Amino acid sequence: MDERIVIVGAGQAGGELATGLRKQGYTGRVVLIGDEAHLPYRRPPLSKGFLLGKTSQAELYLKPQSAYERADIELKARTRVEAIDRSAREVSLGDGSRLRYDKLVLATGGRARLLTFPGLDTTRLENVFSMRSITDVESMRGKFISGHRLVIVGGGYVGLEVAAVAVQLGLRVTLLEAAPRLLARVTGPEVSSFIERVHREQGVEFRLSAEVRGFELDESQRQVRGVTAFCHGVHERIDADLVLVGIGLVPNTELASAAGLAVDNGIVVDEYACTADPAILAIGDCANQPSAYTGGRIRLESVPNALEHARVAAATLVGKREPYAAIPWFWSEQYALKLQMVGLSSGYDHCVTRGAFERKEFSAFYLKGNRVIAADVIGRPTDFAAARQLVSSRAEVDSTRLADESIPLAKVAA
Ligand code: FAD
Repeated sequence: MDERIVIVGAGQAGGELATGLRKQGYTGRVVLIGDEAHLPYRRPPLSKGFLLGKTSQAELYLKPQSAYERADIELKARTRVEAIDRSAREVSLGDGSRLRYDKLVLATGGRARLLTFPGLDTTRLENVFSMRSITDVESMRGKFISGHRLVIVGGGYVGLEVAAVAVQLGLRVTLLEAAPRLLARVTGPEVSSFIERVHREQGVEFRLSAEVRGFELDESQRQVRGVTAFCHGVHERIDADLVLVGIGLVPNTELASAAGLAVDNGIVVDEYACTADPAILAIGDCANQPSAYTGGRIRLESVPNALEHARVAAATLVGKREPYAAIPWFWSEQYALKLQMVGLSSGYDHCVTRGAFERKEFSAFYLKGNRVIAADVIGRPTDFAAARQLVSSRAEVDSTRLADESIPLAKVAA
């Protein structure tokens, strides 16, 4: 009987792993199971070009159907894995059937965190949306009408990207953020205020330190007409034709925990993507792994992480041992701005900037002592490779030289 690898979750990580296994020379059976109705697709354009109508659905797909056929990957879309039987090495599917595995990879990603209020099931509201899937965008698109009032809850990347698209489509946007500044978890105050200014110039209104208190519904009780919030000591009601909730992700770990695997902000894996069960791996947004970069454990939500984790898992599955060693990085697009972030800035003690905020071209370097631990690069793609190198090499730098544009970044390391 052929050896069989079953991958649960046909998203960015699962799709990449399936084809990556063939690239690594794996000749056994590969079954890729996903509960969405689509081929594996890229999520980043959902809140950018796809919502704007500039990126087609076909352009989202990682590969066309024919590529999976050629690679002899058995792709089961619209199929949910309901449970794992570790002793029998089987998964049960939504239709009641069971499927044997030799190795199982959990690439289940996560789901949008919901806003909840006592006594109100917000999932039943017709004009409240999350941004996680093609289906989400399809359901909200018809409401993105010029002049409509959009209230966005959450000032992270997804909320800000949707704000940028909405403004370009002529909507009136108010964004509510619980923290005193935007992107507070991931960037420094300089970049937060820069991003806020860029959006304000485009007409986005902000309520920072805003605590969302509830929704006011219409007579049908199915549509939100206003969002109530408590902000800087004042109660406020903000008119809304539609609401986008972008308050983060909940990793899909239930299959793993029901099967007795360790879960702690993600499915716990080692640097080879393996859980404590030698037959089960986990990758991508759903996995919590050791980080050579932080020295602790980390769960990342980014495409570069999904791709790298898929590569590590493919190597593990063909018997190579290649530990995950990549430095975290991420990108975002808002209006014409391209943002690239490398490393994690938490714990930095000072920030050095290079370039011009007014021209919307600058890099912010986050230092701990004399070492750059993270950088945000805005509109200066040529800085990015050097910034990655500075973060990964942990080389000591001189802050004055780092800020001096006449010195090439590659030469600021002591
Ligand atoms: P996913 O892509 O979420 O795939 C998981 C799949 O598993 C899903 O299809 C899910 O439905 C399926 N699944 C779950 N449970 C089961 C089950 N029991 N049975 C069958 N199937 C199941 N990253 C960046 O680096 N840059 C960006 O600009 C960026 N923008 C983004 C914008 C948006 C709107 C979103 C939502 C994400 C963005 N990301 C971005 C993050 C990036 O898309 C994710 O990190 C990446 O998709 C993670 O891949 P994954 O395979 O781990 O999870």
